Amino acid sequence: MTKKRVFVTGTTGTMGGAAMKELLARPDRFDVVTLARNSEKNRLFMQEFANTPNLEVVWGDLTNYEDVLNCVTGCDYVIHCAAFVSPAADRYPKEAMAINYGGTLNLIRAVLAQPNHDDIKLVNIGTVAETGDRMAPIHWGRVGDPLKPSVHDYYAVSKIAAERAVIESGIKHWVSLRQTGIMSIKEFSHNEGIGFHQPLNNVLEWVTDHDSGLLCANACEDWVPEEFWGHVYNIGGGEDCRVTNYELMSKMMAKVGIDDFRTVAEPNWYATHNFHGQWYLDSDKLNDILKFRTQTVDDFIEYYGRVMQQAAGSDAAQVPLEAIQQGIREKNLEAALSDTGPLHWLIHNEEDKLEPFFISREKWAEIPGWDQYVLYRPAGKPIILDHGYDEDQPEAELSLEDVQKAAVFRGGRCLSKQMTIGDWRTKLTFECHCGHQFEASPRLILEAGHWCDTCERESWDFHHLAKHSPFFAQVWQPLHAENELPKRYEKTVKDTDVR
Ligand SMILES: [Zn+2]
Repeated sequence: MTKKRVFVTGTTGTMGGAAMKELLARPDRFDVVTLARNSEKNRLFMQEFANTPNLEVVWGDLTNYEDVLNCVTGCDYVIHCAAFVSPAADRYPKEAMAINYGGTLNLIRAVLAQPNHDDIKLVNIGTVAETGDRMAPIHWGRVGDPLKPSVHDYYAVSKIAAERAVIESGIKHWVSLRQTGIMSIKEFSHNEGIGFHQPLNNVLEWVTDHDSGLLCANACEDWVPEEFWGHVYNIGGGEDCRVTNYELMSKMMAKVGIDDFRTVAEPNWYATHNFHGQWYLDSDKLNDILKFRTQTVDDFIEYYGRVMQQAAGSDAAQVPLEAIQQGIREKNLEAALSDTGPLHWLIHNEEDKLEPFFISREKWAEIPGWDQYVLYRPAGKPIILDHGYDEDQPEAELSLEDVQKAAVFRGGRCLSKQMTIGDWRTKLTFECHCGHQFEASPRLILEAGHWCDTCERESWDFHHLAKHSPFFAQVWQPLHAENELPKRYEKTVKDTDVR
């Protein structure tokens, strides 16, 4: 058997690092090449792997095509984990677009430049942030549901543009795996305002860093079937990884001795809208193929507890509980008041931030204290969204009529007059409800839930979109009152800025 060469991006980050470790542990089958920025921090990180014979580290930048080409050349697989994520992406949206979208364009170009490009397999890592706020009653979701990046979330916007580019690239073997919340000690050690962007009753189906690495490595194995390629999947840890935000916080606080997490924060520090998350109706699909689920939320919490205990040291028992509680509460307040925190927007009259996350200042003021606040785990039968075409029909039977119907359901039209039956790849011409014309494949629109690139680029104009698109209305109307003031937020950073 010949060894496979795998280019993993973002290996100094959580997911890429886990993927690299997992691949390096299979030295009989894989050589790994990675690209890292030449910083002191990254040099230090890579020292751990200095004597690893099946690893090659290239010092360079994802936004530099020559560096990317150098890494892609000779590879069998590209695992694209690198991303400039929030909260940094919220502060530096231009960088987020340049790295997340521009970097992906470089990868696509480099793959297509290879003489054997049809054999090279590209795993794009997307994100749950592409579909945004899916609070109850629409908290169950699946691939193909409308994309709805949260207002001001340029990370999500850049990842949507990148995923679109991958799907439409013409690369034969691609997949886009939308990553969910990733459980790792590093991810939970931030003290940032973004911790309060997530509503208390929001849901997420988490996955651990270890299992994320496992799935990336497994995607490179010979036993992965050909049918895996050419699709979009949700990554999720399954039933035992489905929690609400307050459930997860309660479990974590319990590990540092705090029985009631409500003692360390107030309900009105937390946003009520505009944060991503969902439980998946379809995440088993990816696990059935890549067999990566080995850890649950409770496994991670146990591990978290041990790490916290070690960090506290042997004197921990002597610190009174009230002091620990007070310390965490102060840290939380500090984060909620920081430049990206909800209390900061409130005090500094940043209504453009306040409104998407709380609807209005008045609505914020109505948030009750803990004595009246209702914490709940959503229950009941999942609402399954309509994708506007017959999904039970075999893929090979998709017709122009099916696509036309789906376009009308999205508030627009399909202008193409011809389509080969069952052809999901060839682009057709569409018109959106604003009259923008665009080209897109049925795969992009029907399977992946994308729509007009101009609308996506220009603004967050969800009230207007929901009015015209019954498809989009399914993810807007259940969460927004009819008398809510329509708001439109311009995007200041666009994919077209990236050259
Ligand atoms: Zn449009």
